[in-house]
Amino acid sequence: MGIAGSDARRDFCQNGAVKAFGRLTLVAATAFAALAADASAAGFLGSAIEGERVITCQQIGRKLGSVSVEQCLDSGARPTGGQTVSGTPLLMREYPPVQSRRPLGRILLVGGIHGDEYSAVSIVFKWMEMLEEFHSGIFHWRVVPLLNPDGLLQRRAIRMNANGVDLNRNFPTPDWHAATEDYWIRRTSRNPRRYPGAGPLSEPESRWLAAEIARFRPDVVVSVHAPHSVVDYDGPPEPPERLGPLSLHILGTYPGSLGRWAGVHMGLPVVTIELPSAGSMPTISEQKKIWVDLVAWLKRRLTEQPRPDWTFDAMTATASAAGGSR
Ligand SMILES: [Zn+2]
Repeated sequence: MGIAGSDARRDFCQNGAVKAFGRLTLVAATAFAALAADASAAGFLGSAIEGERVITCQQIGRKLGSVSVEQCLDSGARPTGGQTVSGTPLLMREYPPVQSRRPLGRILLVGGIHGDEYSAVSIVFKWMEMLEEFHSGIFHWRVVPLLNPDGLLQRRAIRMNANGVDLNRNFPTPDWHAATEDYWIRRTSRNPRRYPGAGPLSEPESRWLAAEIARFRPDVVVSVHAPHSVVDYDGPPEPPERLGPLSLHILGTYPGSLGRWAGVHMGLPVVTIELPSAGSMPTISEQKKIWVDLVAWLKRRLTEQPRPDWTFDAMTATASAAGGSR
């Protein structure tokens, strides 16, 4: 609608210019009209994005007990251009480097890959409030509070996306074709909550996240889930031993999971925070302690240990598979 609208406006302006001015002034008039149409289109696009942001925050704030519509709006998370199966915008907030300070690294924080893990979305919004207040530029953050809004925003929230796909089985692990369906059939007895999808990155949400990883090239990915009450870790050592009340417990990976793809296959450290309950939040002091411990571990990790090798071929392959090159 926006594109058609701006084209119509441009046509109208150009036709007006032909009638009003002679041929010599046509070029200048057309250029002016094009500029005016661009400015108008940019304004229209800006207000359309703002409208999407407000509607999405209204939906999220009404669904979550611990996050209000205002808190979602105040988080500064904005539509990215990425969309879900049903067309809901995927929101993200960037906390960029600050002047005169070189960040220790880039961190991608993702909540709500599974739509029925309410706390894993709410706590990311709480941590965004802390970042808003305390972002010092020590890291360059990108934060996606809710990767699977279609799952969360159903009348009864579901783990999967609107196509019934478990997004955390849809990432392009090298064994995807060989193992994912077999695992789903034999090990889960076709459990619909674990359905890996028709192919790797078949879903717009996982495709967008893979592309975002390829664009941002994070040094660490932090993914929040519930309710296993542990810290899980995939990728090169050393994992955090403890984040707040949560202790390290390696759960292992699955064909198509983010941990197996990014952590094991690409050598990108993936910290999986499994909160104790999907339906209720840790206490405020626990929320803060997990965050403080995470930041302290990230400082150590990015000071003392080698970074992911972003020249690794798999990264390039992923970028093109996901359409991630700009
Ligand atoms: Zn989960």
